[in-house]
Amino acid sequence: MAKQSIGPAIRNGTAAEQSTEQSTASVSRSDQAAPTAATRQETDRQEEKRRWTIEDSEALYRIQGWGEPYFSINAAGHITVSPQGDRGGSVDLFELVNALKLRNLGLPLLIRFSDILEDRIQRLNACFARAIARYNYPGTYKGVFPVKCNQQRHLVEDLVRFGKPYQFGLEAGSKPELLIALATLDTPGALLICNGYKDREYVETATLAQRLGYTPIIVLEQVEEVDLAIAAARKLGVKPILGVRAKLSAKGIGRWGTSAGDRAKFGLTIPEIIQAVEKLGAADMLDCLQLLHYHIGSQISAINVIKEAIREASQIYVELAHLGANMKYLDVGGGLAVDYDGSKTNFYASKNYSMQNYASDVVAEVKEACEERNMPVPTLVSESGRAIASHQSVLVFDVLGTSDVLPELPEPPHEKDPLVIRNLYETYQSISVENYQEAYHDATQFKEEAVSIFGFGYLSLTDRARAERLYWACCAKILEIVRQQEYVPDDLEDLEKIMASIYYVNLSVFQSAPDSWAIDQLFPILPIHRLDEEPTRRATLADLTCDSDGKIDQFIDLRDVKYVLELHPLKRKEGDGTQSHEPYYLAMFLNGAYQEIMGNLHNLFGDTNAVHITLTPKGYQIEHVVKGDTMTEVLGYVQYDSEDLVENIRRRTEQALQESRITLQESQLLLQNYERSLSRYTYLAI
Ligand SMILES: *Cc1c(COP(=O)(O)O)cnc(C)c1O
Repeated sequence: MAKQSIGPAIRNGTAAEQSTEQSTASVSRSDQAAPTAATRQETDRQEEKRRWTIEDSEALYRIQGWGEPYFSINAAGHITVSPQGDRGGSVDLFELVNALKLRNLGLPLLIRFSDILEDRIQRLNACFARAIARYNYPGTYKGVFPVKCNQQRHLVEDLVRFGKPYQFGLEAGSKPELLIALATLDTPGALLICNGYKDREYVETATLAQRLGYTPIIVLEQVEEVDLAIAAARKLGVKPILGVRAKLSAKGIGRWGTSAGDRAKFGLTIPEIIQAVEKLGAADMLDCLQLLHYHIGSQISAINVIKEAIREASQIYVELAHLGANMKYLDVGGGLAVDYDGSKTNFYASKNYSMQNYASDVVAEVKEACEERNMPVPTLVSESGRAIASHQSVLVFDVLGTSDVLPELPEPPHEKDPLVIRNLYETYQSISVENYQEAYHDATQFKEEAVSIFGFGYLSLTDRARAERLYWACCAKILEIVRQQEYVPDDLEDLEKIMASIYYVNLSVFQSAPDSWAIDQLFPILPIHRLDEEPTRRATLADLTCDSDGKIDQFIDLRDVKYVLELHPLKRKEGDGTQSHEPYYLAMFLNGAYQEIMGNLHNLFGDTNAVHITLTPKGYQIEHVVKGDTMTEVLGYVQYDSEDLVENIRRRTEQALQESRITLQESQLLLQNYERSLSRYTYLAI
């Protein structure tokens, strides 16, 4: 998939790409006598290596593209978080994580920056305010937050509080979410949009909420709901505010494209809308119908799709008014996208418009449609979830270990060595820019030959090992050349993937980034420290689960995606002679929307620890700590009682003791570990 729309970001990005290539070049190694020009180049590359700077890291990981103005790199090579951009303070993420670890908050750790949430709400409202001013729109904007996007109590409470100055409301898509919204929203004049499938109880509760001072709007999504709403109104003697959700013919593209269109799951077709209008008219309730709603899908990457939808909806809106409905609100749903890869294109992980473009297009289109028909304009409502909640949370996790393909320089073979080994060595020696593709095929063929001869008993195990090592040495040498080519031949495209290191991370993809597993969603991932060092390894990430899908092997890139991520080699811990290494922390960004609630307990890895951080003039403050699941908790979800479990093990150790299969000391150690584990975090403590 080629990304379109070349903007300033692309130009930045090209610089990024170049610098990536330079960084690649800097690790290249040549053990052949090289001509002078090449030697000079080599020296330049060495130079380059020494000069790796935080700017190189910035360009490589494209932080500005997706993270502006919240994330950047400081002089120490650490990620810093500036919740209000350059208008406020910042916090060093690496130091924050260390400080939280000292407070016994282990990794993986979800850090929520409440100030970023506040900034997102301010930004969205400011964009609409600016558009309203620019187009002289004689109406207002009142947004709502779709609770389904992140239902965590602290977050929804913060949201309501931050939204007060803008009369920002909530959107519920189910009965439990309605309960949350009713209990949390206390902003006078803010809207409570009631979407989703509804039964009598839902409709009655929402209708009665008016009596408590809310402004609930019941959005009719199914024809049957019209009768429910009429019945509830009669029974309760309350005139509800009603809306209809239209199935637009304008379709989103990409992942969520099927949320719209005639066969979409939700909403009323045009004939059904007419039917609803007639029913409401017959019940003398047409004045209750005040809102038109649509939602064409999430993460709409292309602005033209958004425009097309708003144009169609505006016409439906004015037509409904003509049919006698008391139209006051136009709700454009969600879909405002997040630029996960920072490419500013219509790629599915990006968007080719800004929040301001979005607001301006909505305001301008609606105004034009109403003016043409001489109609008062509606109060504009949007239900942006992803665009509000994504940026505020950062998931930090550590690397447990790596598995690398690190070929050593091969020893020249003896004359009496098997022919296949001599051939492989010769191939290795011959590899050059002129013949690397051919050399790759030769090396592959010789390796296959070695396996085949081994199968017939003509090659020793040791020699087979040598053959394989030589093969990897060839691949490594060829890869160095491939990385410097503008064009990579098809058959060599996988080489980078084959040669990639595997970094084992203390994380469950199924719990913390379910969309990465389920729908290949991309999130920016990078180290939060050592950014002043060149990341010389190319890696994919493997998680803690025993599932081969528990991995991340697609990463953001300027063009399409990349299949390996540049990371630093782990640093051995000085002195203690064990396998342990210095902590190496990675973070996944922009995952504050949808991921937490859709995460599952695969392999019984539970919720991660979460903290809410706000910045203060002196630094930061920990607002809330939400401890992740303990093993007792996750076992409880699948109906195990921890006391029963302990009792069971106690019985078995007693038996083993009686049969002298275990010492008293050993049995105590076993029981202690077992019991202690139950109250512990489900992730690894390193
Ligand atoms: C999911 C959903 C939203 C939120 O969409 P985003 O793309 O996250 O902004 C809004 N409205 C409805 C009806 C939804 O189902």
